[in-house]
Amino acid sequence: MGYVPLADEERIARKPHRCIWCGESIARAEKYHYASGIFQSDFQDNHWHLECFGAMQREVDQADYYDPNDGFDAYMHRRGMTEDETDEVGRQEQMEGVESENGV
Ligand SMILES: [Zn+2]
Repeated sequence: MGYVPLADEERIARKPHRCIWCGESIARAEKYHYASGIFQSDFQDNHWHLECFGAMQREVDQADYYDPNDGFDAYMHRRGMTEDETDEVGRQEQMEGVESENGV
């Protein structure tokens, strides 16, 4: 069966949502990306910050092979960043933390 897309569009939030990419909240009245579809006879719908949807698309572009149905871990990314960018920022923050501890 696979995946049958139903909606893929920008919307204005009428109530708060949680972004599937970064896990942060999407505020009421904020513009966001909405995607829904039928995956193996189950209805699913996901809400994205616009910059998070952009990050996901960048990640798809970079990947040799990408399955959007299980291609990423929900809520595990920094807002608006790909997985690689998320890891890179995490490394930088760790290094800065070590430096400031040594600097005392
Ligand atoms: Zn997000």
